[in-house]
Amino acid sequence: MSRIVTAVVLAAGSGERVGSDIPKQFLPLGGKPMLHRSLAVLEAADDIRDVVVALPPDDGSDLSEFPKVVSQVTGGKTRQASLQSALGKLPESTDTVMVHDAARPLLDRALIGKLLVALDETCEGVIPAIPVEDTIKRVSDGLLVEQEVDRQGIWRVQTPQIFRRAVLEDSLAKALASGLESTDCSQMLTSAGYRVRVVEGDTLNFKVTRAADLWLAEQILAARPEVD
Ligand code: C5P
Repeated sequence: MSRIVTAVVLAAGSGERVGSDIPKQFLPLGGKPMLHRSLAVLEAADDIRDVVVALPPDDGSDLSEFPKVVSQVTGGKTRQASLQSALGKLPESTDTVMVHDAARPLLDRALIGKLLVALDETCEGVIPAIPVEDTIKRVSDGLLVEQEVDRQGIWRVQTPQIFRRAVLEDSLAKALASGLESTDCSQMLTSAGYRVRVVEGDTLNFKVTRAADLWLAEQILAARPEVD
């Protein structure tokens, strides 16, 4: 079935943990702002028709080199508020929404295809995730081990995530009505009773959060220029 997919790219965070004055999504990565990495992949992905980008207030980003970007919206105080702003600018014809964090610059086109294939009649959303391989413990604020956590069935969730448009809009409306504030769109769906399928994510599609992540992303881009 052919879908009309709009990608929403969330780039309105302040990214303080990376230790720079510039929000991390604008830091240079391989000579380009990090945000441009995801936008270039979306531009080249045949399955994506349009792109809406959420940016910080007073952001003057020139994204004219990405013709699929149909709207640049001002994000909100939280990721969910930024998503809400972006959903307000979806083109009318959009039936499927792919939400991606600009903080994951090593997005691979193959992952987008995999997500779209998995969005069948058995679910209303699809997310990429990776089974946890390390030992997991709950640790107190005082840095003492409080509890062992069984890692069986525990997965680390990534973006992009795809959803049927009407379901995402309904889930957001229900989250707003109930006061649910989530850093993950799929949580809004599962809270509203919708089915979210998991596909195996990509280890290299990590979120740049700290300075070491930025360094690692630079090394990967240098060693794998085909993602350039
Ligand atoms: O802060 P964190 O890394 O969890 O943010 C994930 C993504 O959500 C980032 O790409 C960030 O720019 C975006 N975000 C946003 N609006 C906010 C907070 C985060 O668009 N208010």
